[in-house]
Amino acid sequence: MKKREIPIIAFKCKKCGRIHYPFHDRCLTCLSRDFEKIHPQGNAKLLTFSAIFNLPWGFDQRFLIIGIAEFENKVKVMGQIKADSIDELQTGMTVLPTWEPVRVKDGENIYGVKFEPIK
Ligand SMILES: [Zn+2]
Repeated sequence: MKKREIPIIAFKCKKCGRIHYPFHDRCLTCLSRDFEKIHPQGNAKLLTFSAIFNLPWGFDQRFLIIGIAEFENKVKVMGQIKADSIDELQTGMTVLPTWEPVRVKDGENIYGVKFEPIK
């Protein structure tokens, strides 16, 4: 299988191991300023999800399902979920992360993370 690169950088505290994404100036647990840059790795586990009906400009869907998922190396990322209804989803399920256009702004594709439920 082709390795999927998610070009997101998360920041792992070198002292206590807590992962921050997005970046914080100091570790939220131990206040250290010493971070290691890491990328999300592997599949992800869906932690929470919700449907959004009032979308900003740049989306051509009627609604979006978004969620937060935790990668195998513990990086938590918010992204769109490829599902027609939240009825298809449950917390704890495995989702396949992909990096692809999520919206259009000024005629340009904006890339982001999408999660595809594994059936
Ligand atoms: Zn820390």
